[in-house]
Amino acid sequence: MSIEKELKNILKDDQVLADSESLKHYGQDWTRYYEPKPSAIAFPKTTEDIVALVNFARTTKIALVPSGGRTGLSSAAVATNNEIVVSFEKMNQILDFDSMDQVVRVQPGVITQTIQEFAVEKGLYFPVDFASKGSSQIGGNIATNAGGVKVLRYGLTRNWVGGLKVVTGKGEVLNLNKSLVKNASGYDLMQLFIGSEGTLGFIAEAEIKMCRPPYPLQVMLFAVPNLKCIMKIYEMAKKQLSLTAFEMFSEVALKYVLEHSRIARPLPEGSPYYVLVEGELIAESTTEDFVKLFEDGVNHGWIDDGIIAQTETQFKEIWSMRENVAESVAKFTPYKNDISVRLSRVPDFITEVDNLLKNDYPNFEIVWFGHIGDGNLHISILKPDDWKKEKFFEACRKVDEHLYATIQKFEGSISAEHGVGLAKKAFLHFTRSNQEVEYMRLIKKQFDPDNIMNPGKIF
Ligand SMILES: Cc1cc2nc3c(=O)[nH]c(=O)nc-3n(C[C@H](O)[C@H](O)[C@H](O)COP(=O)(O)OP(=O)(O)OC[C@H]3O[C@@H](n4cnc5c(N)ncnc54)[C@H](O)[C@@H]3O)c2cc1C
Repeated sequence: MSIEKELKNILKDDQVLADSESLKHYGQDWTRYYEPKPSAIAFPKTTEDIVALVNFARTTKIALVPSGGRTGLSSAAVATNNEIVVSFEKMNQILDFDSMDQVVRVQPGVITQTIQEFAVEKGLYFPVDFASKGSSQIGGNIATNAGGVKVLRYGLTRNWVGGLKVVTGKGEVLNLNKSLVKNASGYDLMQLFIGSEGTLGFIAEAEIKMCRPPYPLQVMLFAVPNLKCIMKIYEMAKKQLSLTAFEMFSEVALKYVLEHSRIARPLPEGSPYYVLVEGELIAESTTEDFVKLFEDGVNHGWIDDGIIAQTETQFKEIWSMRENVAESVAKFTPYKNDISVRLSRVPDFITEVDNLLKNDYPNFEIVWFGHIGDGNLHISILKPDDWKKEKFFEACRKVDEHLYATIQKFEGSISAEHGVGLAKKAFLHFTRSNQEVEYMRLIKKQFDPDNIMNPGKIF
């Protein structure tokens, strides 16, 4: 019997797809590094459906790939080996809300932006925020421990998870933490599932915390001569403002955003780098603090020019310059990288990487952007027009070797927030020791003894 038919014996007909278009569509994430080759797509509607799928996988030894909004950037939701993709599109309900706990219970397929909007309806705030929020799902956010633009103030997704219902690779259902603020009763298994990239089990339900909304926000854009100056401005801004975001992008990034979005250049002169500084307007006088930051930066020679948003439209436009970078360069088949070092080491690290890229790879156009306030940089290398995709990616993997060796030297991470997936597993050793990886393997074995949960990802 075909896998499609077997799955239709477990689930209903409308919960299984196996046509070639669907296999391609659901078999890959935002990266396009690997050819998708799943055997079928299953759409559970309940926790019981998930348990049934796990039991089927354990019996047949056909692996399962959890799939959220497929906006992942590490090929973690990619199925290349006849796996069954388990999509959470049909588990997208908000289940209940408790105003005392400020916790909403949701199914894993709820879109990130929907949770943000729900929080606003309740007079609250959900701070996990990034450009793909309109497509990514909360289950995917949790499985990747997603970061985003507000991390320097609010932390990673991990900080906003109060409880999880999971189905392990053994088919067991665990209710973890149950939104207790304090729970000193042994190992925190919930945290293990956060960032586990679907390798231990499925997130079947999540309790998501919310908080008081920020004060009204103000945003400024500065033109900055070099990356070292950016870090100086950040050090100053942290002292002077109630910061909520500190993002950067290069002139190359801005060039493509302006082309793509057809918005006007924000400042008359181009500049090697730009920083976006967002903070709270706690009192009326706070605007003066923003202006003072700009003036101090100019006096130190760290800022060449700048604008402060005067209207809501300008506020959005400044943010769109940062948030649209990834989308604007997508047509160049970019090779994306997401890395981090601790803040104090960012200036020296950047100088070394910049020199490496300029000297060894002068033909590649490099787009720098990222959450520099977290020590997190995104580097996208754009494919030259006349290069074949395979040749380009192969060359980029060589760049990676050099880049990651530098990261190892600076004790940073080969993946800041996008995860390891398939894309980075060959390079994991640059960040994690053999002993650490061995402990990860042992943990996986306990939750997933038959290796049916997203096998081959991370390690
Ligand atoms: C334009 C753009 C901007 C981005 N910006 C950021 C950013 O600023 N910060 C950031 O951190 N990321 C960013 N990302 C990456 C991506 O959006 C995040 O990693 C996001 O959390 C992935 O969610 P998803 O639902 O799309 O997951 P998917 O890509 O579908 O899956 C990601 C991982 O989660 C697993 N998974 C999904 N659902 C479940 C589940 N229910 N149970 C168990 N495992 C599951 C998958 O198997 C896979 O391992 C960006 C992506 C794009 C395209």
